[in-house]
Amino acid sequence: MAPVATRDLHDASPTPPQGDSTTTTTNNNNNNNNNNNTLPIPPTTISSRNPSGAAKLFRIDMHTHIMPSSLPDLASLTPPCPEGAAPYPWPDFRPSSSGNGSIDMYVGTEFFRRVEPNCYDPATRQHEMDATGVDVQVLSTVPVLFCYDAPLGPAIILARALNDHISAICRAYPERFVGLATLPLQDVTASVAELYRLFGSPAPEGGSVMKGIQIGTSIDRDTMLDDAKLDPLWAACEDLSVPVFVHPLGYALPKENKARWGRYWSSWLVGMPCETALAMHALTSGGVLVRHPGLRICFAHGGGAFPALLGRIQHGFDCRPDLVAIHMQGVGPMEHFKGSHREKGGSCCNEDNHGVKGERERGGGGQIWIDSLMHDPDLLEYVLRKMGPGGAERIVLGSDYPFPLGEVPAAGRMLIEDESVRRFMSWEERAGVLGGNAIRFLNLGRQFEERFEKRLKNIDCTEAEVVVAGGENDMKSVVEKRGRLQGWGKEASFGECYVGDNLKSDGSDVLG
Ligand SMILES: [Zn+2]
Repeated sequence: MAPVATRDLHDASPTPPQGDSTTTTTNNNNNNNNNNNTLPIPPTTISSRNPSGAAKLFRIDMHTHIMPSSLPDLASLTPPCPEGAAPYPWPDFRPSSSGNGSIDMYVGTEFFRRVEPNCYDPATRQHEMDATGVDVQVLSTVPVLFCYDAPLGPAIILARALNDHISAICRAYPERFVGLATLPLQDVTASVAELYRLFGSPAPEGGSVMKGIQIGTSIDRDTMLDDAKLDPLWAACEDLSVPVFVHPLGYALPKENKARWGRYWSSWLVGMPCETALAMHALTSGGVLVRHPGLRICFAHGGGAFPALLGRIQHGFDCRPDLVAIHMQGVGPMEHFKGSHREKGGSCCNEDNHGVKGERERGGGGQIWIDSLMHDPDLLEYVLRKMGPGGAERIVLGSDYPFPLGEVPAAGRMLIEDESVRRFMSWEERAGVLGGNAIRFLNLGRQFEERFEKRLKNIDCTEAEVVVAGGENDMKSVVEKRGRLQGWGKEASFGECYVGDNLKSDGSDVLG
C-alpha cells in the first residue's frame, strides 16, 4: 500500500511558526523517533481526518494576565512609615520611551519589566486572539500586583481596582473575556469580604462576570496555603462555588537570596515550578483538600515540579507518615493527584457538596486541575498517566499570554500541531483541554457549552489512522503503532486498533 501524503498541521496554522516553538517540536519528534530503534519501523504515514479542523476547535485560554494602564496613587494612600523605615515599594507604571504604547513597570524605584499594549489593551488582545485562534481569554492580574506584603488599606484598594478593571472588560466583551479576581490575602477577612462583593450573596444581577480567583503559591515567607487562617477563605470558595487558580510568585525569590535565584532567570525557570510544587505539597499534606471537598484548584504551568516529584512525595508519605501524613486523613499524594479517593466515596467526600457527584462522573472527581503549559509533550504524556483515567478532563489550556515564557503567540499550538501528542491523546480529549474543560472548571454555563459543541460538531475528531507499507516487520509496526494509539486503556491484540475502549479495527484493513 502506497503511503499517503502527510498533511502538515503547520500549514493549517493561521500564523507562521515561531523559531523557538518550531525548534522544540522538531527536537521532540527526533527524540521520539530515536526511542523507536528497538523495533524497526518502515516509512509510515500518519493521516488524520480533517486535521486542519483542529485549529478551529473552541479555545479558552485559562492562563492570561492583564493589568490596567495606570494604578491608583497607592503611595499617597499609605500611612506614613515609622521613622527610618523604607516606604513600601508599590508597583508603578510609567509610559516607556519607545513611543509604541509600551509601559515600564516599576516596583518601588526598581525597574521590573516592560510590557506591550497587549498587556493592558483589550482591542490589541482581541486582534491577537483572532490571529491565533483563541476564542476566550480568562483574565487575571499580573502576579507582581498581588502585593500580599503591602499595608492592608491600600492593598484592599488595589485589589478592588484591579477586579473592577477586569470586570469592566468582561462586561464590555462578554464573549471574549471572563475574569479571575485577586484578593488581599494578607488579611483573610478582607479577602472573604472581596469574594462576597464579587460573587454574592446575593449574587450580582445577571451573575458575576468574575468566574474564579487567582492567588499566589504563598502569602508571605511564613504562610503557605495550608495555614489554618485561610480556612474561612476556602469555606467561602466552597460556599460560592468559586474555583481557584494558583500562580507562583517567582519574582519574590531574588528578594530572599539574589545569589541563588537572581542569575540565569533561575527564579522564573526553576523557582516558579518549585514554588508550585511546594504549594501543592502543602495543600495536599496539610489536608486542605480533604477538609474542603468542594474546592476546585487549578495549578499553573502544569503543576510545576509537583508531578515529577510525586513518586518521592508518595514514598515520603509511606515511609515517614509521622512527618508527612499527619493531616491527610489517609489520602496520599498520588490519590490526591488522581482524585481516586473521591471515586471511592471516602468519608471526606460529601456528595451534597457543590457538584462533587457530578465531578465524579467526569475527570475522576479530582479537585486538582492543572493548565497545559508544559512546553514538552513527553511531560504531558507522563502527567496524564499520573492523573489516571479521566485526567485529561482536568487539564485546561493555559498560555501565560502575553509573556514570553508562555506558549506564545499561539495558545494550544503544542496540542494541535505536535505530532507526538496523538500517541496518547484523542482529539476529543484535546478538544476538552482546549476549551471544554475550562467551561466546566469555571462553570461558564450553557452559552459557552453551545459555542464549544457547535465548533466540535463541525470537526471530525476521529482518531488518526495509521497506514503502513507491507512486509513482516511492517506488521509488527502496525501493532506497535496501534498499541500506542490506543493509549493506556486496553492492550491491543495483533493488528487491533482501539480508540479508548472501542475496537475500531481488527487490523485487516491495513494488514490484508
Ligand atoms: Zn502566568
